[in-house]
Amino acid sequence: MKHELVLKGGRVADGSGAPAFVADIAVAGNRIAAIGAPGTLEAAATLDCSGRMVAPGFIDAHTHDDAILLDLPDMPMKTSQGVTTVVAGNCGVSVAPMTLAGDPPPPLDLLGTRATYRHKRFADWTKALAADPAAVNAVALVGHSSLRVQTMDRLDRAADAGEIARMQALLDQAMGEGALGLSTGLFYVPAKAAPTEEIVAVAKIAGRHGGLYATHLRNEADALEDAVAEALRIGHDADMPVVLSHHKAMGKANHGKTARTLPLIDEARKKQRVALDVYPYIASSTVLTIDRIAASSRILITWSKSVPEAGGRDLSDIAGEWRVDLEEAARRLQPAGAIYFAMAEDDVRRVLSWPEAMIGSDGLPHDTHPHPRLWGTFPRVLGHYAREVGLFPVEEAIRRMTSLPAKRLGLRDRGMLRVGACADIVVFDPKTVIDRASFATPTLPGAGIDAVFVNGRAVWKAGAPTGARPGSFLSRDTGAMDYAG
Ligand SMILES: [Zn+2]
Repeated sequence: MKHELVLKGGRVADGSGAPAFVADIAVAGNRIAAIGAPGTLEAAATLDCSGRMVAPGFIDAHTHDDAILLDLPDMPMKTSQGVTTVVAGNCGVSVAPMTLAGDPPPPLDLLGTRATYRHKRFADWTKALAADPAAVNAVALVGHSSLRVQTMDRLDRAADAGEIARMQALLDQAMGEGALGLSTGLFYVPAKAAPTEEIVAVAKIAGRHGGLYATHLRNEADALEDAVAEALRIGHDADMPVVLSHHKAMGKANHGKTARTLPLIDEARKKQRVALDVYPYIASSTVLTIDRIAASSRILITWSKSVPEAGGRDLSDIAGEWRVDLEEAARRLQPAGAIYFAMAEDDVRRVLSWPEAMIGSDGLPHDTHPHPRLWGTFPRVLGHYAREVGLFPVEEAIRRMTSLPAKRLGLRDRGMLRVGACADIVVFDPKTVIDRASFATPTLPGAGIDAVFVNGRAVWKAGAPTGARPGSFLSRDTGAMDYAG
């Protein structure tokens, strides 16, 4: 039998974490049609993969790609890394269901302007994506902060019963239209005043639909353990899976705390469903706020509305030039975004090494001078942390980017290379794959990613996007979330 395309003679890491084996892989339409011994499969077109590794397309478990999927559908910052599916709507912020009369409040401004928030219903966003597809697949959470902005006249208080009912109705509709669950950003101003009970009441609705609860914790510093406990309680009370977003410990006084949070999570996993995602850097990135200054050893400005040329510069240099302190400089740059150097390498490695850690870039695609995690996360885990540092074998790194998130997020037929699965595939050179994006030059594509296929079609080849946009919105697959294995 002659196939459409055969990837010939690569070392196949099937996503399970098992050792790679040399094989041919045949693609027909959007599916994997056959996996056979080298030289046994025939096709009209072939790609020589000898010396290369062939893996399932990577799943970026934590993104803020809601708007960029529509604005820059080639998505080179993702396809260049081998990413074939993104999870949007994280940290309490989603572009749908939401419309705005004025400017979006921080951190909603990380995703764009008032015009970005134009999707009254969740289905308006999925329809826009279907009408003008992106190169990658997408699933999306509904943001609790977005729901608050939609339903409350002021955000510095708990929602009342009527407002909770309106948030529940919006979420119920979005879940019916295929949303993955609810996300929160309890650290941020729009959600800070929300008590645990408010979150439980809203999240429950997503839980009833078989959705999950993903959370940017209320505190990632001094009260990290309390914040983890709150997230676990929400998952328990709302009876739904919890995903702890970008797990970390911020500020020198808190370094080492992941040695306590991970056992807490392990203990909880005996009774409830818990997962987490992590990005492979010691610096975080979000909006510029005064309260993060003290805990950071260095702050880099990623964008500033009032001083656009500040993007890419150190806050301390700007403050020095202006002869003011860091806080005053930060005030003058508002609204703005920043990168905060505030984590310990040991914590990053400990979380990455935890067997249940999914890889999520948390990249901010609209920033003028973004954190390098936007372009570098996946090649960095493969090249730096697997090959150079030796945290885990490359096959295990791949598992954390593929079958693990596919199971935990309920992505049917993704995350594994097997006959009948969707043909999301990445071909890379395990000897040379590495991130090139740095804090100084943050938008360089990684090296060593040779070819990337989404639903059977090449989206990245020879160092450039192909222009194909075979990505689709993946509706939540009710009941498919697998926390057993
Ligand atoms: Zn976040």
